[in-house]
Amino acid sequence: MRQRKGMSRILIVEDEQAIAELEKDYLELSGFEVVMENNGTAGLKRALAEEFELIILDLMLPGMDGFEVCKKIRAVKDIPILMVSAKKDDIDKIRGLGLGADDYITKPFSASELVARVKAHLARYERLTGSNTNRNTVIEIRGLKIDKTARRVFLNGEEKIFTTKEFDLLTFLAENPNHVYSKEELFREIWNMESLGDIATVTVHIKKIREKIEVNTAKPQYIETIWGVGYRFKM
Ligand code: CA
Repeated sequence: MRQRKGMSRILIVEDEQAIAELEKDYLELSGFEVVMENNGTAGLKRALAEEFELIILDLMLPGMDGFEVCKKIRAVKDIPILMVSAKKDDIDKIRGLGLGADDYITKPFSASELVARVKAHLARYERLTGSNTNRNTVIEIRGLKIDKTARRVFLNGEEKIFTTKEFDLLTFLAENPNHVYSKEELFREIWNMESLGDIATVTVHIKKIREKIEVNTAKPQYIETIWGVGYRFKM
């Protein structure tokens, strides 16, 4: 089981020094340990080399932009990524690209908003990565294996790459089989209430999960659609 050791470490990748310093100050005041990088290339390198509990990633960065950095981090790590953008338009772009960012925040934002989001994501991530030691860490159903500790998914022995939310959603459904959940319930459960987004996100994620674990997505063996109600994991 994952244990919290001391302070949570947060990586800020931000090229605007003043903003980075401000974020750092407020997060440190809230008890976090903060590390900063001011360009995409260095940020990515640091994110991959060291252990962080959360990453705050600016979109427009020299070296490598936030889109690319997010994609590359997400390919190997499932820690929460909070993307920061100066433009509202970018948020749609981030969502559309399905980079696996967990949340988005638009500049200018207040320090309290940032701290609240960070805390909420850490709490959620900690909960989902299993502070409950009584639960099984591996779920196995008809060739599908979900390793909750390693946060990895295998289908008939072959690993499938899942984003954070896809993993959380699949795990939640698999841990509560034969129960029909509405999209609203799933959105509330898996996505942070403070996150931007809407229940259509749930549909998109279910589709992506099915593409990874179903032989025939039109006839799903694991996650069934209950028309007009929601979804159910078939045990
Ligand atoms: Ca920037």
